[in-house]
Amino acid sequence: MDHFGLVRIDDYEPLIGAELVARIKRKALPLQDHRVVNVNSTYYGGGVSMLLSSLTILMNSLGIETGWRTIHGSPDFFTVTKKMHNALQGGDINWSERKREVFEHVVYENSILNHLTHDIVIIHDPQPLPLVTHYRKGGPWIWRCHIDLGAPNPELWSYLTQFINQYDAAILSSRDYTQQLETPQVYFMPAIDPFSIVNKEMRDDEIDERLAHHSIPTDLPLVVQVSRFDRWKDPQGVIDAFNLAREAVPCRLVLLGNVATDDPEGPAVYESLLGQQADDIIIISHQDGALVNALQRRAAVVLQKSLREGFGLTVSEAMWKGTPVIGGDVGGIKLQIEDGVNSFLVSSVEQAAERIVELLKDPGMCREMGLKARETVRQNFLLSRYLEQYLDLFNSFETVYRLRNCS
Ligand code: UDP
Repeated sequence: MDHFGLVRIDDYEPLIGAELVARIKRKALPLQDHRVVNVNSTYYGGGVSMLLSSLTILMNSLGIETGWRTIHGSPDFFTVTKKMHNALQGGDINWSERKREVFEHVVYENSILNHLTHDIVIIHDPQPLPLVTHYRKGGPWIWRCHIDLGAPNPELWSYLTQFINQYDAAILSSRDYTQQLETPQVYFMPAIDPFSIVNKEMRDDEIDERLAHHSIPTDLPLVVQVSRFDRWKDPQGVIDAFNLAREAVPCRLVLLGNVATDDPEGPAVYESLLGQQADDIIIISHQDGALVNALQRRAAVVLQKSLREGFGLTVSEAMWKGTPVIGGDVGGIKLQIEDGVNSFLVSSVEQAAERIVELLKDPGMCREMGLKARETVRQNFLLSRYLEQYLDLFNSFETVYRLRNCS
């Protein structure tokens, strides 16, 4: 850590080894003093802001001047972009002229407020996508899509490709999301910051304190899902699976969620669940990273019963803590869980309930899976790996641009 407690790549050495740390530092050298900027649509709530808050700091510590901007928009804009998000994950949309105008107008306004003259520009998800049309590129522009693109709405996708094709690369989270594009597509799975408040080590008494602070009893095994309140996370399916499971084994459900600033549907999803609160069903909407951490550690089992999921940081977060996960057999969750080995994949409420019962009845299996889960994350899903992929991509562009400039 530096003087102010900020994470540096050297902090990863005990987790990934000195050789890898040295390799990452070497790859950062040609990028010293380069100016990189990320643009997304929220500072808070959801995996993208979680990733950016850690990755931008780490890149700066390596001498790469990395910024982070968020676009500003009216409530109308975010209503439209949430509909786009839903449609990209396979939902329906009426892609009207009015929506297109709201979308393009707000992005245009943002292009005036932001002066994106950086060496490398990284645009996250569809909200700021058309920014690329408003600048003369001084270097590569990268579109980083975090969404489950397994079956995007064809009409909306075809509209968006006019923008995507102006980028120099598109980063997707899984090969399963590959699309017909003129732009080269590369595949980076997201990753977790093992030193963040959500993931850092916690003592037992610290865990007890956080749970007590939120009045969460620990007399029964905890079944936990931590997710934004979003229908794609299937919170109702979680409650239904829990209700089936508790007939076979006593347990308590904690659904912890938050609402991202760019997601106007969140409050309604949260309110629709509140009527089901009971002594053994606790539903909390509160942003507390340490509570996320404590719950993922203390849970007997963590659920991530998503119906669509670009990646699902919460899956790796729980696995890192040695807690087995029951995850929806979709999107990026399939890349994190080896079914029956380090956690379980499920496709229905009934299957989820069966796996909850199986795990709660067999603490030995929980421990064994948990150990494998942690090792899976250590090898594949720590931020150091994600950072190195970005450095490789930046360096590949460097070569291209230097050659162009010399010729
Ligand atoms: N998260 C949180 N508090 C909550 C719910 C979620 O801090 O109440 C965090 C969670 O720990 C994870 C991120 O928000 O780091 C969600 O990322 P994920 O990729 O799982 O889902 P997304 O919200 O991006 O769809």
